Amino acid sequence: MGQLQKILIPFLGLVLAFWFYSARENFKPEMLKGKRVIVTGASTGIGEQIAYHLARMGSHILITARTEAKLQKVVQQCLELGAASARYVPGTMEDMAFAQHVVREAHTSLGGLDMLILNHVGASYFGFFDGDVEHVRKLLEINFLSYVAMTTSALPMLKESEGSIVVVSSMAGKVGFPFTVPYSATKFALDGFFSSLRQEFSIQSINISITLCILGFIDTERAVGAAAEVLRDRPAPRAECALEILKGAALRRRELYYRYSSTRLPLLLRDCAADLLDYLVRSRYRLPSTPAT
Ligand code: NDP
Repeated sequence: MGQLQKILIPFLGLVLAFWFYSARENFKPEMLKGKRVIVTGASTGIGEQIAYHLARMGSHILITARTEAKLQKVVQQCLELGAASARYVPGTMEDMAFAQHVVREAHTSLGGLDMLILNHVGASYFGFFDGDVEHVRKLLEINFLSYVAMTTSALPMLKESEGSIVVVSSMAGKVGFPFTVPYSATKFALDGFFSSLRQEFSIQSINISITLCILGFIDTERAVGAAAEVLRDRPAPRAECALEILKGAALRRRELYYRYSSTRLPLLLRDCAADLLDYLVRSRYRLPSTPAT
């Protein structure tokens, strides 16, 4: 026992010291001043808030989504907030050629790229999996394949700038979530692709950071409209979420958890008590009594 204590106490001390120093904040808004950044899905929600934070920090911003009228307003607001420049490209991420076109636009109009923020998400349903394979395929194209297409096109510019890729994902991309089966599948795919790509960057000494953002419930219109009545959690504010994403990206973190308490902490159970974690996830929903079909 005495021997065990001699080993255990210094070991715990080391773990705590590592945790303390690695968790220290040293983000400064100047880190993003003048940076050339693409933000996808920036017409509303978290992406819109990311654009506003970048504008206040003085970045060059290129935003995209489908709704041109909303993009125009966001660009106008970005310019008023102090963006070094702001422009938009409207179109749909169902089309891989469009995804690549957005990246080319950064090359043409900004002369390069420092940060690619992949945030857009296609519409899906909230309910039991309905067996619609075509919907899963379409969602994979929007939520996953277009991320891959943009990343592939952006690599030469990001290699040159030793830049960053930011992938906005979800708790539903780390642990199984009921009622969002197709969405969850697309988010798991992102983890597989980008975590493997990070390994290859490391082997090839490619200095591009990849930050995977694991978000809990955030108060965007879409999420609140879909889940507020059935989820017991209170949604976290989207502006704060957007800032945390940018901090994680600027500090080149491999993963970012927001909010920590509702994402990182439960995930600690994944390897040692997976059934308990599944139960905790299910207990977050106000479930009607559902007869077996
Ligand atoms: P929103 O629905 O508020 O915004 C989604 C954005 O994607 C909009 O700008 C939308 O614009 C754009 N978009 C939708 N479909 C397409 C398409 N086919 N082609 C191009 N752009 C498209 O989403 P949130 O802000 O809530 O979510 C942002 C990210 O955060 C997503 O990746 C989501 O999975 C993740 N997340 C969010 C959570 C939450 O609770 N809010 C929780 C966990 C993760 P337009 O319609 O004009 O095209």
